[in-house]
Amino acid sequence: MHPVGRFYLTTPIYYVNAEPHLGHAYTTIIGDALARWHRLLGDDVKYLTGTDEHGLKIQQAADAAGLDPQAFADSIAPKFADAWDRLDIAYDDFIRTTEPRHANAVAELLQRCYDAGDIELDTYRGKYCVSCEEYYTDDELLEGERCPIHKRPVDTFEEENYFFRLSRFQDRLLDWYAAHPGAIVPEFRANEAIGLIRSGLRDFSASRTSLKWGIPLPWDPDHVAYVWFDALTNYLAAAGFGDGTDAYRTWWPADYHLIGKDIIRHHCVYWPAMLLSAGVEPPKGWAVGGWLLVDGEKMAKSTGNVVKPLDLVDTVGVDGFRYYVLADTPYGSDGDFSYEGLVARYNADLANNLGNLTSRVATVIAKKCGGTGPPPAADSPLAEHAAAAYEATAAAWDVVAPSRALESTWQLIRATNAHLETHEPWKLDPGPEVDRILGDALEALRIVTVLASPALPNTCQSIWQRIGLDGAVTDQRLPAAATWGGYPGDRPVEKGAPLFPRINA
Ligand SMILES: [Zn+2]
Repeated sequence: MHPVGRFYLTTPIYYVNAEPHLGHAYTTIIGDALARWHRLLGDDVKYLTGTDEHGLKIQQAADAAGLDPQAFADSIAPKFADAWDRLDIAYDDFIRTTEPRHANAVAELLQRCYDAGDIELDTYRGKYCVSCEEYYTDDELLEGERCPIHKRPVDTFEEENYFFRLSRFQDRLLDWYAAHPGAIVPEFRANEAIGLIRSGLRDFSASRTSLKWGIPLPWDPDHVAYVWFDALTNYLAAAGFGDGTDAYRTWWPADYHLIGKDIIRHHCVYWPAMLLSAGVEPPKGWAVGGWLLVDGEKMAKSTGNVVKPLDLVDTVGVDGFRYYVLADTPYGSDGDFSYEGLVARYNADLANNLGNLTSRVATVIAKKCGGTGPPPAADSPLAEHAAAAYEATAAAWDVVAPSRALESTWQLIRATNAHLETHEPWKLDPGPEVDRILGDALEALRIVTVLASPALPNTCQSIWQRIGLDGAVTDQRLPAAATWGGYPGDRPVEKGAPLFPRINA
């Protein structure tokens, strides 16, 4: 069982060169649900997100908008915070890399790596993708010297830079990962990261002189920190690193960095090496997601296939959208977004299963139990379904597998609907038998409401109230709240409007 303690979870920080799109929402919703699950477990949770505001990409976007980079970043960053508020993302901290706390942390980390002798001055000439902020070797480029991710031509840069001696860290990284099995989930993504390390590590530049929009190196302010060196440090900065004390250790090392598969190299290779150099412990875990593709392509401003999450909310509601994101694609694999898929998933799992169960139970209680919910029986056949659903749901969240967690919870919904169809209480006369069937169904629904609340916070609160329970479902604590027998009975049950009206595609 998960020991109760602290849980520090991060999303990547998002570039402010564009407004929030479905890809951003995908990772942020996964993180929010995972954070909510850990709050149910009783953990003290810190869920961090934020914005990445330095670098050439931002400077160029600001130039195009006719603004200075800070004013440009100030105009975009609130759009992320606003989108997360509208998607019920309960983040605990939102960091912007233009904040002083972040600059202090970057300066501290750079200085520690420099003092350790792992950052040295050198000259570098190479092919550079501005969108990736990354050098590529010739064999990594697509035909026509194009970036393998952005498929756009790269530029040739030559710079005198400070280099981080990543090449010295191959053995230390392999040893560290060998000593921390399971740190990267899912496992096939761990194999990718280990493969990158085994294939040999090149030093990477830790600074730029061609760029002014960044954080100056403490020992040589003509250079600004390389954007990845800058960006990655946000995870430490938000824990308090760089304030001159060791207070950051309250939260550090982070439990999970949620990342996309395109930034494995930076997060699972560069980042732990930087930390080892600086004498800071690497994070405990990385959960690597695939891409939510649209028509088989990664969503990006440059490919013109951007889906805005808030437009989808108009169709299926906030919880309907959150559920789709969490349930439709196993985390780690690529998913393919389609409007038809969104509606089909909504109708099948939400309208026909959870919505139908809730309304059915309330309808029969109104007709046969005078609108008052009976208590469950201790020896209900649904009790073992509930215990199995909790075990499987918890095990799946434990390895950041939200689609499996929800599938496990939905097994209990299906078992409860089947229980009602077998016994057909709507055909029976009022009395103890009807009370027993409905009391059991209510108790199963209560447990479902707790287990599904990380995905569907609003809907679950609404069900909680409709079945006559007090307080907030988010105040429940697991595993006690999933233990059979918690529904007290003798509570008013109301039907209310349909939770998930069917959508005709
Ligand atoms: Zn690129």
